[in-house]
Amino acid sequence: MSSYKLANLIRARFPLIYITTFEEDRVTKYISSVVTDEKQVKFPREIYQWTQTVGLYNQTQQKRIPDTESPCKALEYIRKVDKDSVFILYDFHINFGPKNRTPDYNVIRKVRDIIPDLKLGQVRKTVFFVSPELLIPESLQKEITIYDFPLPDLEEIRKKLESMIKQNLNVENTLTEEEKDKLCKAALGLTLQEAESAFALAMVNDGKIDIKDLPIILEEKVQVIKKTGILEFIKSDYSIKDIGGLDNLKKWLLKRNNSWSEQAKKYCIPAPKGVLVTGVPGCGKSLTAKAMSTIWQLPLLKLDFSKVFSGLVGSSEENMRRALATAEAVAPSILWIDEIEKGLSGLGSNGDSGVSSRIFGQFLTWMQEKESPVFVIATANNISNLPPELLRKGRFDEIFFVDLPTFEERKEIFKLHLEKRLKDKTIASEIVTVPNLCSELAKMTEGFIGSEIEQVVVSALCDAFFESRPLKFEDLAKNIQTTVPLSTTQREQILSLRAWANVRAVSAAKTSDRTNYKKEIDNENVSSSRGGRTLDF
Ligand code: ATP
Repeated sequence: MSSYKLANLIRARFPLIYITTFEEDRVTKYISSVVTDEKQVKFPREIYQWTQTVGLYNQTQQKRIPDTESPCKALEYIRKVDKDSVFILYDFHINFGPKNRTPDYNVIRKVRDIIPDLKLGQVRKTVFFVSPELLIPESLQKEITIYDFPLPDLEEIRKKLESMIKQNLNVENTLTEEEKDKLCKAALGLTLQEAESAFALAMVNDGKIDIKDLPIILEEKVQVIKKTGILEFIKSDYSIKDIGGLDNLKKWLLKRNNSWSEQAKKYCIPAPKGVLVTGVPGCGKSLTAKAMSTIWQLPLLKLDFSKVFSGLVGSSEENMRRALATAEAVAPSILWIDEIEKGLSGLGSNGDSGVSSRIFGQFLTWMQEKESPVFVIATANNISNLPPELLRKGRFDEIFFVDLPTFEERKEIFKLHLEKRLKDKTIASEIVTVPNLCSELAKMTEGFIGSEIEQVVVSALCDAFFESRPLKFEDLAKNIQTTVPLSTTQREQILSLRAWANVRAVSAAKTSDRTNYKKEIDNENVSSSRGGRTLDF
């Protein structure tokens, strides 16, 4: 994938440039602006467009070239053109053999035949393939350069909104400059066409455009992002107060808030890349990802890695490319990769002809080189499938291990979930009189994970509700006794997770919690050891 400027690729006579986009109009305007600008390309070019329905069309001379609908005839014409030109071929990939279609080997051969002329001929010519899908036949891999065409930036979206406001004088406009910015920021991550549709929807809704339209734009974005089938826009109401324990992890995250601000630049702080949070299931990894978006006030996009490979939505490489481009377009943003190990399970196997390796490589390169402020939070339960390259220093800023909650953490988790649900004084009337309630409960729940503690509270409340009475200590005690914790059923897995974490990860709990915890535990069950290195932030 090329990150060079398009003008440089053209000047350096790269013969074939592939751009994957749905935005034909926008990309055509962009190519046209570059190739007609003497300052950028030195030798301005004529522009031809080609579709299978119309054939070649000389845009500069506004002239259709007859009998060039067939790809081979169009390519032959291109070879004969004797003026510096670029040729934009739309949807040419259908000849390369997309799903359920055999490749047209004549066309592929013809493309290869014209390459020497494109590279070395006296006349300067460049061929562009513009398609919504990325598909390159093996035999052209070395000759085609992929050019990454970004989604529209704030300025382009703002121009679009302003032109729409100008064109629709009957629509009342009460937006201040700052509010305009907010609406446009909300549309980041959409194509220009999608942004236009979202603004149009906001306008027709009540004949006005004002800041109250913000939810309409955001909702459109949620829908559009959902349609990718791979990314989901997560709206989170969780705050740092909703996480019991994990103080070390919380502190690390709080310290990195605003790392992209102008103020942070004065300290020359490198923008954080991301964290990998691994550990025992049900102990708050997902909760942390959601709370982060609230703490940092950044949009949270969840990437389902397994769907990237599923083949249900499109080509895997293209899915990944699009997902990363969307995250970059809404940057600063948080990209949450849940259960990253599931997406990487095909690595090393021969079953997928190397697709997993390519995608993984694509992701690693992006992690390494990304300049836009996209913070990655990857969560994983099963670390045995994680490839060592992912864990190498420099990929993630830190790897955190979330263990079974310590005594102090369990106390906090009980407190959180009881307070959240016991808002009605009559229901809480008995339980609030129990001395050291949360300490007592924490003592009884050694080895319980956060979600089991939550479930104990919920089930106890169900019992009280069933008998139409206030919650009693006994309700909680009974549900604790009837729970078989995951730490019992998956003892071996937890112990091996810890052994892994002791060498590679930092504990998400703070040191004092861990030390006190050790003192409390004198029996030899799974709770008596802890995973992850002790290092407080
Ligand atoms: P999984 O990998 O199985 O998804 P997880 O570690 O991501 O597990 P969460 O989904 O974050 O676990 O936790 C499940 C639920 O358990 C949370 O929604 C929350 O209600 C409760 N919970 C877990 N850990 C904590 C915690 N530390 N503080 C408060 N609540 C917690």
